[in-house]
Amino acid sequence: MKKVLITGAAGFLGSHLCDRFIKEGYKVIGMDNFITGDKKNIAHLSNNPNFDFIDHDVSEYVKFDGELDYILHFASPASPIDYLKIPIQTLKVGSLGTHNLLGLAKAKRARMLIASTSEVYGDPLVHPQTEDYYGNVNTIGPRGVYDEAKRFQESITMAYHRFHGVETRIVRIFNTYGPRMRLNDGRVIPAFMGQALRGEDLTIFGDGSQTRSFCYVDDQVEGIYRLLLSDYVEPVNIGNPHEISIKDFAEEIIKLTGTTQKVIYQDLPVNDPMQRQPDITLAKKLLGWEPKVDRAEGMKITYDYFKSLTEEELYKSEHKDFSGFINK
Ligand code: NAD
Ligand code: UDP
Repeated sequence: MKKVLITGAAGFLGSHLCDRFIKEGYKVIGMDNFITGDKKNIAHLSNNPNFDFIDHDVSEYVKFDGELDYILHFASPASPIDYLKIPIQTLKVGSLGTHNLLGLAKAKRARMLIASTSEVYGDPLVHPQTEDYYGNVNTIGPRGVYDEAKRFQESITMAYHRFHGVETRIVRIFNTYGPRMRLNDGRVIPAFMGQALRGEDLTIFGDGSQTRSFCYVDDQVEGIYRLLLSDYVEPVNIGNPHEISIKDFAEEIIKLTGTTQKVIYQDLPVNDPMQRQPDITLAKKLLGWEPKVDRAEGMKITYDYFKSLTEEELYKSEHKDFSGFINK
């Protein structure tokens, strides 16, 4: 039985990856320190004999006895609100955490895949974004802690590959959504859906002309799975190219949820990218992959998930007022 270590296992993507690898017949070891994750996301795996869990901060030395075939490094705060609130931890998990895990991959002769991001392109001047675009990132801006940690993560991963011969894979993930996102993590989909469910107005940052392209989690996991098993070392974009402005997206959410609330406009966060759309030509060619779930279908599943949360979860005040963080 092949063994895979998944960091960030109690988070949104990490928990879905745990499910996928268990379904494929792997032994899965999840690792997380719950800084932005939730035990609930992996509670259903607690009695599964093919799942083990280690509560550990991967920015500290990672000790693991026994063999490993694969490491998937998904630990990192991933929402702008989270990484603005915990900037040092964000820098550390992308840099020290990645270094520790690459060391472990080298020692175990395991193949390691890192979760990079469309944020390495910053506020992109090339559209749609192709993997050969170097990006436009403000190193010292509030988002720099995340973007630069991820850029460093890609560099150290390639260095371990070139210098130590570690087998590595790099996925550049574009905005992905689905069940198990944290309702109050500040990202636009849980934010709008939470507002609709609480009967609040939907907060659009800026004039809403900025665009994003949203990928449903099952499509993302499929792309990651195929990339891991491929022999391609350089970064690959995985995302859904169907682009929409945030203003139009708010209208879609209003229709979907049937809320009678309106949209209200707030300041655009500093360095908020104005456009984002993955060019997935490479993923199509290399992996025979493209997204299958359209936004209407994915949003409905996601909304059904948020509707199933308890009143207590719906009204948890964490991050409800984050205007203070966002423009510092
Ligand atoms: P998430 O916040 O739901 O999950 C991240 C998990 O990592 C959490 O469970 C958190 O507790 C854990 N973690 C953070 N620091 C840790 C540390 N030092 N040690 C151990 N565990 C730690 O976020 P997500 O959306 O699931 O993102 C997962 C990964 O995918 C991140 O690396 C993120 O940068 C990347 N990514 C996600 C998206 C997206 O749209 N969801 C887009 C681009 C990149
Ligand atoms: N956004 C918004 N209202 C919100 C939350 C986010 O208008 O309540 C905007 C945000 O400014 C950005 C887009 O939605 O332009 C996507 O934000 P998210 O935090 O989901 O992801 P990212 O900026 O990392 O792509």
